[in-house]
Amino acid sequence: MQSNSCGHQWIIRLTQQQSERALDAALIDILSQVFADNNFALYMNKQFTSQGHIRCNYSGGSAAILDDEQAQQLVAKIDAERMRISGSQGQYVYFPIYHLGAVIGFVQSSSDFALTHDSPFVITNILNIYANQLYLLYRSRLDPLTELLNRQTFDSQVMDIINGDGFAERRDNELERQWYLAMFDIDHFKRVNDTYGHVIGDEVIILVARILKQSFRSEDYVFRYGGEEFAVLLLCDNKDQAMQVLERLRATVADFTFPQVKRLTISTGFCAFDNTSMVPELVHKADLALYNAKNNGRNQVVDFHSLNIPDNTKGAGDDDLDDDMLELF
Ligand code: GH3
Ligand code: MG
Ligand code: MG
Repeated sequence: MQSNSCGHQWIIRLTQQQSERALDAALIDILSQVFADNNFALYMNKQFTSQGHIRCNYSGGSAAILDDEQAQQLVAKIDAERMRISGSQGQYVYFPIYHLGAVIGFVQSSSDFALTHDSPFVITNILNIYANQLYLLYRSRLDPLTELLNRQTFDSQVMDIINGDGFAERRDNELERQWYLAMFDIDHFKRVNDTYGHVIGDEVIILVARILKQSFRSEDYVFRYGGEEFAVLLLCDNKDQAMQVLERLRATVADFTFPQVKRLTISTGFCAFDNTSMVPELVHKADLALYNAKNNGRNQVVDFHSLNIPDNTKGAGDDDLDDDMLELF
């Protein structure tokens, strides 16, 4: 077996990981080998944007837990000093995680750690390669035009929520809340392309995407589902609240002045998640509500559950529907 003297086996392992979860697990395992006592904690902004927060992503052994503010202050200090720093009482040492020249997190370990390897530079390299691989995975989830999450990510995110993984990091008092799926389609978008051309059409898609991003919280997920269609997975207390949020968004788009095009509207359909539905059934329900919004004059929000269609879209209910209903937008 080849030696791992410069950590190259660890580096190969990190670059082979194709999911964030597997990559995190590989890093934690590698750091556990480096810091043989497992006394380390990992803090990082995994969203790669200024809206993201530094969070504790892992804490093992007796590593101290810093709150978000302390972690943020440390990042600023590390960024300013551009080096590995020690804690004020000297009991901890912090290894920065760099990405594209900025510090996006750090690993905290006790200063008396027993390194199984000679060089702290190995740790720095491993953390940088981890951050690069995480960034590649992050970019692969985004739609290049709008930088919203892409369609490929949609199915896996809905599955995660159905399987309960989407509830990770929620506080206890928020467990009552429910997930909703909303689908949006820009009204009469063909006219925009036909009248102003595709470049202006693309600009409109980017602007609608920006309004969408600003209208939801960081815990919600916003996708470009297809051409001028978008989807949002949002957590709400109840469907009245979901309706309120979506209605506010509808009004924001309708009031927005788009360059050249000026006025534009969107139609929205939404449904609540339930334990029994799979991804195609949920999309089908939200799409039916969207179809209803289009048919009733557009520029409106429709709740699937208000349509009184039997809540069994896979069963007899399907026979009542036009086969090509979902192809219309
Ligand atoms: P409706 O109100 O019924 O939705 O009418 P519509 O004209 O918006 O109809 P539809 O949703 O079927 O039109 C979608 C159009 O969006 C067709 C396609 O040319 C255009 N489109 C899809 N993707 C893009 C894109 O990335 N950029 C641009 N500029 N146009 C796109
Ligand atoms: Mg449309
Ligand atoms: Mg469409």
